[in-house]
Amino acid sequence: MATRPYAIFSCDLDTVDRHLQGYGIENLPACDRVYRTAVPRVLELFDELDVPGVLFVIARDAHSESALWRRAVAGGHEVASHSLTHTQPFSTLDDDRLRAELGESRARLSEASGAEVIGFRAPAWDVTDRVLGMIAECGYRYDASVFPTPILVASRLAAYRRSARKGSIFSMDLLGHALAPTAPHQSRAARGALVEFPISVTRWLRLPVYHTFSYFVPPWLFRRGLRSALRSGRPLCYEFHAADLLDLASDGIDPRMDRHPGMKVPLAAKRAALRDILATIARERRVLTYRQAMEEGIAA
Ligand SMILES: [Zn+2]
Repeated sequence: MATRPYAIFSCDLDTVDRHLQGYGIENLPACDRVYRTAVPRVLELFDELDVPGVLFVIARDAHSESALWRRAVAGGHEVASHSLTHTQPFSTLDDDRLRAELGESRARLSEASGAEVIGFRAPAWDVTDRVLGMIAECGYRYDASVFPTPILVASRLAAYRRSARKGSIFSMDLLGHALAPTAPHQSRAARGALVEFPISVTRWLRLPVYHTFSYFVPPWLFRRGLRSALRSGRPLCYEFHAADLLDLASDGIDPRMDRHPGMKVPLAAKRAALRDILATIARERRVLTYRQAMEEGIAA
């Protein structure tokens, strides 16, 4: 029997202050609520389903949370980089800033987690060919920032409307990788030195098979997309955020997070929905980390 195709679960650990910065609320003190409250719930969910997962971590907090990363790695999970400071828009940073965001985050997280970091995901999936080339130069072996869906164009416009820094739209790569290949591939931009694992989308319409999208569409539509992605037989890379396991009221989250998708849904309902989706995928797929998929060969 042929080996079953794989799926990869990844969770971006954007902190509350960095989420709010994305909404134009600047200069907030670093908030550790995600690490104290959400990450243990994420690890518990992975344990319950008996699957490994990939944590994309903002390396600003690499050392202060070292025990958490070591616990995750010891549990079979992978720690990868979600930049140093999660500054946005990411792709417009100059070469020196980019090198710090990429290189320094990789070094800090490797040291803090005790396992070499080989993967990167950009804030708001904002990568260009120049950024992808630098990701490879900084020693990463894969990138997971390409989101090949036209919906990203709409979401970038919405982010722009929410943002206090209105000038940034002129520097945003609005079209991004809407038409990029949807299966894992060698990155052309990095001349084959980097494997690209795009976020999963449906085959024809390229609707996101991405957790935040589930807050915007009826459950039957999201389910249909998920089933079609599973039927395709292609690797399924499913992304969610730590905030998907935070409760605005009972976890005492900054009330300005109410504008964030899903934050008005009570934790029990959000957790059940996420668990159900991950369990559906895990029933049909072998769940790997990106690192394990690299070791197997990306087409498996
Ligand atoms: Zn992020």
